[in-house]
Amino acid sequence: MGTYDCIVVGAGISGLSTAYALQRRGAKVLVVEASAKVGGAMSSEQTPEGFVLEKGPNTIVCGSADMHEHFANLGIEKELMQADRQGARRYLLLNGQLELIPLGPAGAITTRLFSPKGKLRLAAEPFIPRAKTSDESVAAFFTRRLGPELAQRVVDPFVSGVYAGDATVLSIRETFPMIWEAEQKYGNIVWGMINILREKAAERKKTGKKRVKSEMISFRGGVVHWPQAIAKALGAENVWLNCSATALQRVDQDWQLTVQRNGKEETVSAERLILATPAGATANLLESVDTKVAKALREIPYPAVAVVHLGYRREDVAHPLDGFGMLCPSHEKRDVLGTLWSSTLFTENAPQGKVLLTSFVGGARRPYFAMQAEDSLLEAIIQEQQKLVGAKGQPVFKRVTQWQSAIPQYVAGHTERMAQVNRLEAMWSGLYIVSNYRDGVSVEKCWHKGNELGQRIPFSKPAS
Ligand SMILES: Cc1cc2nc3c(=O)[nH]c(=O)nc-3n(C[C@H](O)[C@H](O)[C@H](O)COP(=O)(O)OP(=O)(O)OC[C@H]3O[C@@H](n4cnc5c(N)ncnc54)[C@H](O)[C@@H]3O)c2cc1C
Repeated sequence: MGTYDCIVVGAGISGLSTAYALQRRGAKVLVVEASAKVGGAMSSEQTPEGFVLEKGPNTIVCGSADMHEHFANLGIEKELMQADRQGARRYLLLNGQLELIPLGPAGAITTRLFSPKGKLRLAAEPFIPRAKTSDESVAAFFTRRLGPELAQRVVDPFVSGVYAGDATVLSIRETFPMIWEAEQKYGNIVWGMINILREKAAERKKTGKKRVKSEMISFRGGVVHWPQAIAKALGAENVWLNCSATALQRVDQDWQLTVQRNGKEETVSAERLILATPAGATANLLESVDTKVAKALREIPYPAVAVVHLGYRREDVAHPLDGFGMLCPSHEKRDVLGTLWSSTLFTENAPQGKVLLTSFVGGARRPYFAMQAEDSLLEAIIQEQQKLVGAKGQPVFKRVTQWQSAIPQYVAGHTERMAQVNRLEAMWSGLYIVSNYRDGVSVEKCWHKGNELGQRIPFSKPAS
């Protein structure tokens, strides 16, 4: 049996960032990971044809000096790629046609995305009274504040494309906490957001943190390069792959973890245990500690999503693909939630003369569609790309990745579920939970939460 200061279960970005911050403070850390590779949802593949496929996250928002410093510490800054400037342009499907989302006030006035009535309704936002409820759905919130056109044509596709979610069931308070806070504190979104951003800037000034322009990034060879670099820094001997945590027990002051490692059962223990696994896996481990929390975690839905990569010869696609990609509102009734024009964002991710389209399928509204047989899924998405961007004939490359449980949904009751998790941490010393079902799903948020946790977990440094 090995003894460590801290054990981290799960080598996704949440677990790895926690482990790395702890190790840099001098802790002896072990990471156990059920699969054969690190990164969790961050999963990239370089194909023999010269495509770089992102099966999970394609872009990461990087807007903090801390994150840049972290990349420098890992020595991976040179591999960092910024998304092409065309990535600022995003399209929405309206009545079967791709329409550009306006970038500024002038575009908002002339856009065909909203009717004159819809535009007037948008302008009325500052005069809409604040909600008296403690939470509401994302769709209800934006319909109330900005009108049904914006809710249906922009918010709905954004939520399904980014969160694989259904705006009519996601909680506004948990999914967009800053926007909810803007209304609660300042009475409206526009002035509220301006004030919140001002407060954040003032806070940064106080702490002496530099302002860093937010940008969309990836790494040469794919986003997985980052978790791989963290694992390398932790040391192969401290990251056990093919090692699934199966049971948890409190023994005196320690947490004793049973693991299945290469088919054999072992136990490892530490005073501090960090569970950085998806909600269902965390619930299984916590069953022996707190059945109520385990039950609450099992209630978090993770709908299925399929990611469909199609490569075409450039000349076979009529659309200029001059942007981030496109999103489909649910009332358009299409088979894709949205498509990223991956080779526009990162030209290196497709060979010369070819383009790469990454489509997302299924999600909370149609999870079954994501899990159908690969051939019929491919057929459906090839046909969609013919209609959406004028892709001719058969693609030169195709690949399907199916996620049975993709992204956690912060639906009604999430606040109470997370209150249970807070209670659990307060009750049990040395037990910590960090994951994408808590305080944000983006890679950026997961990294910040893990890094912050790794900085604050108390442990006594070994005498040097
Ligand atoms: C298709 C898709 C597209 C996405 N796109 C974006 C995007 O463009 N930008 C963005 O910012 N975010 C995106 N996300 C979200 C983001 O990638 C994830 O929320 C984030 O990477 C989750 O990190 P995590 O460490 O919390 O969890 P995970 O990455 O899920 O890691 C958890 C780890 O725990 C391991 N594990 C599970 N059970 C056990 C066990 N019993 N014992 C040991 N190990 C175990 C798993 O194998 C896994 O490696 C996307 C997600 C998906 C699925």
